[in-house]
Amino acid sequence: MRYQGPIYRPPSEADSLLIQATVGCPHNRCTFCLVYKNGPMFSIREAADIKEDILKARDIYGDGIRSIFLPAGNTIAMKTEDLCEILVFAKAIFPEIGRITVYGSSQYIHKKGPRGLKRLAEAGLSRIHVGLESGDDVILKKIKKGTDSREQIQAGKWVMDAGIELSVYVILGIGGKERTEPHAIETAGVLNQIEPDFIRLRTFVPKVNTPLLADVENGVFQMLGPHEVLEETAVLIKGIEAASYLASDHYTNYINLEGRLPKAKRRLLEQIGTALKKDAASFRPFFIGTE
Ligand code: SF4
Repeated sequence: MRYQGPIYRPPSEADSLLIQATVGCPHNRCTFCLVYKNGPMFSIREAADIKEDILKARDIYGDGIRSIFLPAGNTIAMKTEDLCEILVFAKAIFPEIGRITVYGSSQYIHKKGPRGLKRLAEAGLSRIHVGLESGDDVILKKIKKGTDSREQIQAGKWVMDAGIELSVYVILGIGGKERTEPHAIETAGVLNQIEPDFIRLRTFVPKVNTPLLADVENGVFQMLGPHEVLEETAVLIKGIEAASYLASDHYTNYINLEGRLPKAKRRLLEQIGTALKKDAASFRPFFIGTE
């Protein structure tokens, strides 16, 4: 099997077979992201090469594979028919497969439209991991996400309507001190409209060689401290009415929160309340991310 450029996968895909379908990210402009800033340029692998890797994986691991993740940063941007071809092939080679997933930003999902997403669902795409980051349009513009809340809501609803599971990622603290409240409130509003299967929390950590780190260093962007992140999280969770599973399965977070909303809301808020009583020094230290 062959891999090119950085290979990232969500923590929830730790047990999945990784078959690279695309290289890099077609957007590559988010100010907080360093993953593909040094290349490689976005490209789509030949279907024949991807199939060869699938066959090679069967030779190595046998045909009992149950989940596959198709890196890299925005594999949903592949042509629908090509992605469908890969999905159908993978299902034929691995008859016990239960889940095939990709990363996809809302603007590329949106381009598929409801029909394209339905075709992908029928071909076997079972989950899309979406970096929503925020529901606040001011923040989305600042971080150069390349989409807005309206498009994110529509894309998310189409994914859900197509019968594809949706796992969305929110970055706590991505609005800094200036936008912490609108970030929490607007994000909850967007999540309520989409009602994704999973809401996954990450906490903003500035990364080397990113525009947002430069803003942190020159004081343009004021980061939240641990207590402020927790307060923001409480406002976010209070505002979520969607029946989604919330998880904070990531090393960047100050505390681990997990549960099905809205049932778990009270428990999660109590957990945050307890954490808010702790000294700032008891949380993970500030660091600059390198990956
Ligand atoms: S966060 Fe995602 S969409 Fe943005 S540049 Fe990084 S890989 Fe691309």
